[in-house]
Amino acid sequence: MKEARVYLDYHATTPIDDRVYNSMLPFLKEHFGNPSSTFHSYGWKTQEAVDDARKSIASNLNAKPREIVFTSGSTESNNIAIRGAAEKYRDKGNHIITCGTEHKSVLSVCAYLEKNGFDVTYLPVDRDGLIDLNKLNDAITDSTILISLMFANNEIGVIHPIEEIGGIAKEKNVIFHTDATQAVGKMKLDVQKCGIDLMSMTAHKIYGPKGVGLLYIRSANPSVQVEPLIVGGSQEYNIRAGTLNVPGIIGLAKAITLCDDLLQDEVETSRRLRDMFLEGIRENIENISVNGSLEYRIPNNLNISFRGVEAQALLMMMDDIALSLGSACLGDTIEPSHVLRALHIPEGDMYSAVRFGLGRYTSEEEIKYVVHRLTETVAMLRSQHSSPKQSRTKTAKKDKRYEKDRSFNE
Ligand SMILES: *Cc1c(COP(=O)(O)O)cnc(C)c1O
Repeated sequence: MKEARVYLDYHATTPIDDRVYNSMLPFLKEHFGNPSSTFHSYGWKTQEAVDDARKSIASNLNAKPREIVFTSGSTESNNIAIRGAAEKYRDKGNHIITCGTEHKSVLSVCAYLEKNGFDVTYLPVDRDGLIDLNKLNDAITDSTILISLMFANNEIGVIHPIEEIGGIAKEKNVIFHTDATQAVGKMKLDVQKCGIDLMSMTAHKIYGPKGVGLLYIRSANPSVQVEPLIVGGSQEYNIRAGTLNVPGIIGLAKAITLCDDLLQDEVETSRRLRDMFLEGIRENIENISVNGSLEYRIPNNLNISFRGVEAQALLMMMDDIALSLGSACLGDTIEPSHVLRALHIPEGDMYSAVRFGLGRYTSEEEIKYVVHRLTETVAMLRSQHSSPKQSRTKTAKKDKRYEKDRSFNE
């Protein structure tokens, strides 16, 4: 396996920022106290640091410190939000509304709840990956207790109209959860302005460490309650038991502060490089299509189908560049991504889809290099394809690395 030299998989995870890393170091060694230890300075020290982190994050999201619950990441936050709210409000109703393009950690909780007496409506999306707000309105019934719709999609980068959704939810008195994992650092997040009741995010997608995230839980207008999934000590207001991941929390707070400080610059740079990238691809490669709306999209994402090319073969030939498929390999077969399926793009285009994620350390030089590599590799694969002697899946089938589950878990 060749070592990749360009990283364009920022939706899967991000490298840790030096400033985040340095902020965490003291809490991995000197300041090791348990913030729940109330009778000595070891505990006070970390308690104070966690309090400061909570305050800083809350002010960043226009929330109150009391509304931030630290978790192990967005998967857990999504689980607590959806299952926790469903169980808490079961007496009020059993209907949940979500969408077919959500992250697996939302869809899997919904599937679990369906097996346990809940009704789930999966809103359809159009070819651009957008929902119809009228359909959302129509789907709400007297028994609807929760709407869960992501802020920005992790495969196609499409942004839902969160403020409008929040408005509809408020009007109909339904709790609104959003998975904001991919939106953090790409736009200003304001839980008040957007009418968000529950919001998930994770540190490792924003240049922080893996294994730490948070769930925002609205405390007033309305005061939202959730059943805990993990019980034990009384940490995190009895919503999430377990000793706090202090270094992780410090890193998460620093990562959020940095994203906020750098927001305008990063958005502009990302958009410029992304547009340059797309232009380069369009100039050099024929028969490509962008999956998902370009207008309502985070600035660092592209998801492109190279017609007639197997994305799997493409990525294997370009293993000097870290990328992800727009589909998922399950055992010997490749399953198109549930997101692209929901967009109803042509079957062939689903297998030729590649996801590109740009980030803080992406350079113009790298983008030019990737355009160059894509141009030559797509041309090569297309010429192979037209030659009947060669099987275009031969290399793909032989490679053991691609025989395991490569579904979108990120
Ligand atoms: C990465 C991701 C998750 C999962 O986050 P973890 O912290 O890795 O559990 C959930 N939702 C979206 C949209 C993601 O991109």
